[in-house]
Amino acid sequence: MHDKNNTVTGGCLCGQLKYQFEKNAVITTSHCYCTDCQKSTGSEKATLVLINDASLKIVGRVKYYTVTGTDGADISRGFCEECGSPVISYASTMNGIKFIKSGSLDESSWIEVTSNYWTSSANKWSKVDKTLTCFTHNPIF
Ligand SMILES: [Zn+2]
Ligand SMILES: [Zn+2]
Repeated sequence: MHDKNNTVTGGCLCGQLKYQFEKNAVITTSHCYCTDCQKSTGSEKATLVLINDASLKIVGRVKYYTVTGTDGADISRGFCEECGSPVISYASTMNGIKFIKSGSLDESSWIEVTSNYWTSSANKWSKVDKTLTCFTHNPIF
């Protein structure tokens, strides 16, 4: 089945890197305030759409930068090698799961954020929404 309304599309700023996946592949959406996400996005946080990657198709070139996270997992953050837009990431310990950077979606009004990760490193100038489930560090899945 390939329902057009159920297909989510996105990509980088310059447009050489594009992706699509099925909306029913979405597991949850969370803000991450960890310092690595702050550095890699150049902003207050990353808003991550967790998806089951079975339906994910990527067209174009993704460059990955991998660091070992605090809990020992390798975190690979993918970005466009031309324009540098952060688009996708994954953890070595989470098979079949990808994290899509919400700002790279072409249309994201359907997103519902459910939780905050790493509230312990959120900046004073970036207010955390305390009505969401908050994890001071990595979430427990
Ligand atoms: Zn690009
Ligand atoms: Zn993070």
